Amino acid sequence: MSRFKVTKQIEFCYGHRLLNYDGKCKHLHGHNGLLEIVVSTESLDSRGMVIDFGDIKDVVKGWVDTNMDHRMILSKDDPILNILLDLNEPVYVMDENPTAENIAKHIHEEAQKAGLEILETRLWETPSSYASYSPANADERGG
Ligand SMILES: [Zn+2]
Repeated sequence: MSRFKVTKQIEFCYGHRLLNYDGKCKHLHGHNGLLEIVVSTESLDSRGMVIDFGDIKDVVKGWVDTNMDHRMILSKDDPILNILLDLNEPVYVMDENPTAENIAKHIHEEAQKAGLEILETRLWETPSSYASYSPANADERGG
Protein backbone atom coordinates (compact mmCIF):
# COMPACT_ATOMS: atom_id res chain seq x y z
CA MET A 1 0.00 0.00 0.00
CA SER A 2 1.45 3.32 -1.01
CA ARG A 3 1.04 6.36 1.16
CA PHE A 4 1.82 10.04 1.05
CA LYS A 5 3.38 11.70 4.08
CA VAL A 6 4.07 15.30 4.97
CA THR A 7 6.07 16.57 7.94
CA LYS A 8 5.77 20.02 9.48
CA GLN A 9 8.43 21.38 11.83
CA ILE A 10 7.42 23.67 14.67
CA GLU A 11 9.86 25.21 17.14
CA PHE A 12 9.15 26.12 20.74
CA CYS A 13 11.06 26.73 23.95
CA TYR A 14 10.29 25.02 27.20
CA GLY A 15 11.72 24.25 30.59
CA HIS A 16 11.26 21.13 32.65
CA ARG A 17 12.83 18.81 35.16
CA LEU A 18 12.39 15.10 35.62
CA LEU A 19 11.46 13.37 38.84
CA ASN A 20 12.99 10.02 39.83
CA TYR A 21 15.87 10.61 37.47
CA ASP A 22 19.60 10.96 38.01
CA GLY A 23 21.19 13.11 35.35
CA LYS A 24 21.25 16.59 33.89
CA CYS A 25 17.47 16.73 33.43
CA LYS A 26 16.94 16.28 37.18
CA HIS A 27 17.29 20.05 37.68
CA LEU A 28 15.27 22.91 36.20
CA HIS A 29 16.60 23.74 32.73
CA GLY A 30 15.39 24.63 29.28
CA HIS A 31 15.35 23.26 25.74
CA ASN A 32 14.87 24.69 22.27
CA GLY A 33 12.46 21.98 21.19
CA LEU A 34 11.65 21.07 17.62
CA LEU A 35 8.38 19.32 16.89
CA GLU A 36 7.86 17.26 13.76
CA ILE A 37 4.24 16.51 12.96
CA VAL A 38 3.77 13.73 10.41
CA VAL A 39 0.45 13.46 8.59
CA SER A 40 -0.18 10.64 6.14
CA THR A 41 -2.93 9.68 3.72
CA GLU A 42 -3.39 7.02 1.03
CA SER A 43 -4.70 9.52 -1.47
CA LEU A 44 -4.40 13.24 -2.07
CA ASP A 45 -7.18 15.79 -1.86
CA SER A 46 -8.48 17.79 -4.82
CA ARG A 47 -5.53 20.19 -4.45
CA GLY A 48 -3.05 17.34 -4.70
CA MET A 49 -2.15 17.57 -1.01
CA VAL A 50 -2.15 15.34 2.06
CA ILE A 51 -2.94 18.47 4.07
CA ASP A 52 -2.02 22.12 3.84
CA PHE A 53 1.17 22.69 5.90
CA GLY A 54 -0.51 25.82 7.21
CA ASP A 55 -3.36 23.76 8.69
CA ILE A 56 -0.88 21.68 10.72
CA LYS A 57 0.83 24.86 11.87
CA ASP A 58 -2.43 26.56 12.86
CA VAL A 59 -3.53 23.68 15.07
CA VAL A 60 -0.25 22.58 16.62
CA LYS A 61 1.58 25.90 16.88
CA GLY A 62 -1.61 27.50 18.14
CA TRP A 63 -1.94 24.98 20.96
CA VAL A 64 1.78 24.92 21.81
CA ASP A 65 2.12 28.72 21.83
CA THR A 66 -0.85 29.03 24.18
CA ASN A 67 0.03 26.18 26.51
CA MET A 68 3.70 25.20 26.48
CA ASP A 69 5.91 27.79 24.79
CA HIS A 70 8.27 29.52 27.25
CA ARG A 71 6.76 27.64 30.19
CA MET A 72 8.06 25.18 32.74
CA ILE A 73 6.48 21.81 31.99
CA LEU A 74 6.24 19.95 35.29
CA SER A 75 4.74 16.82 36.77
CA LYS A 76 1.76 17.38 39.05
CA ASP A 77 3.83 15.59 41.70
CA ASP A 78 6.77 18.01 41.47
CA PRO A 79 7.25 19.74 44.85
CA ILE A 80 8.41 22.95 43.15
CA LEU A 81 5.08 23.33 41.35
CA ASN A 82 3.26 25.21 44.12
CA ILE A 83 6.19 27.58 44.63
CA LEU A 84 6.20 28.55 40.95
CA LEU A 85 2.42 28.90 40.90
CA ASP A 86 2.57 31.18 43.95
CA LEU A 87 5.06 33.37 42.10
CA ASN A 88 2.84 33.49 39.01
CA GLU A 89 5.50 31.77 36.93
CA PRO A 90 4.11 30.24 33.71
CA VAL A 91 3.87 26.47 34.11
CA TYR A 92 2.19 23.63 32.29
CA VAL A 93 1.25 20.70 34.51
CA MET A 94 1.26 17.10 33.32
CA ASP A 95 0.07 13.94 35.06
CA GLU A 96 3.23 12.17 33.96
CA ASN A 97 6.93 12.96 34.19
CA PRO A 98 7.60 15.66 31.54
CA THR A 99 9.97 13.60 29.39
CA ALA A 100 10.27 14.26 25.65
CA GLU A 101 8.25 11.06 25.16
CA ASN A 102 5.36 12.22 27.33
CA ILE A 103 5.39 15.78 25.94
CA ALA A 104 5.25 14.37 22.38
CA LYS A 105 2.31 12.14 23.32
CA HIS A 106 0.54 15.03 25.02
CA ILE A 107 0.88 17.37 22.04
CA HIS A 108 -0.17 14.54 19.71
CA GLU A 109 -3.35 13.94 21.68
CA GLU A 110 -4.22 17.63 21.98
CA ALA A 111 -3.84 18.05 18.21
CA GLN A 112 -6.02 14.99 17.64
CA LYS A 113 -8.68 16.52 19.89
CA ALA A 114 -8.53 19.63 17.71
CA GLY A 115 -9.30 17.46 14.69
CA LEU A 116 -5.86 16.87 13.20
CA GLU A 117 -5.26 13.25 12.18
CA ILE A 118 -1.55 12.70 12.88
CA LEU A 119 0.52 9.63 12.07
CA GLU A 120 3.42 10.50 14.34
CA THR A 121 4.61 13.32 16.59
CA ARG A 122 8.34 13.73 17.22
CA LEU A 123 9.93 16.04 19.72
CA TRP A 124 13.61 16.84 19.20
CA GLU A 125 14.87 17.77 22.64
CA THR A 126 18.38 18.39 21.35
CA PRO A 127 19.73 18.41 17.77
CA SER A 128 20.70 14.74 18.17
CA SER A 129 17.88 13.30 20.29
CA TYR A 130 14.18 12.93 19.62
CA ALA A 131 11.31 10.98 21.11
CA SER A 132 8.23 10.08 19.09
CA TYR A 133 4.68 8.97 19.68
CA SER A 134 2.24 7.32 17.35
CA PRO A 135 -1.00 5.66 18.44
CA ALA A 136 -1.45 1.94 17.74
CA ASN A 137 -4.02 2.49 15.01
CA ALA A 138 -2.11 5.28 13.25
CA ASP A 139 -1.08 3.12 10.29
CA GLU A 140 -4.66 2.15 9.52
CA ARG A 141 -5.85 5.69 9.02
CA GLY A 142 -6.39 6.66 5.46
CA GLY A 143 -7.56 9.82 3.85
ZN1 LIG B 1 15.68 18.26 29.65
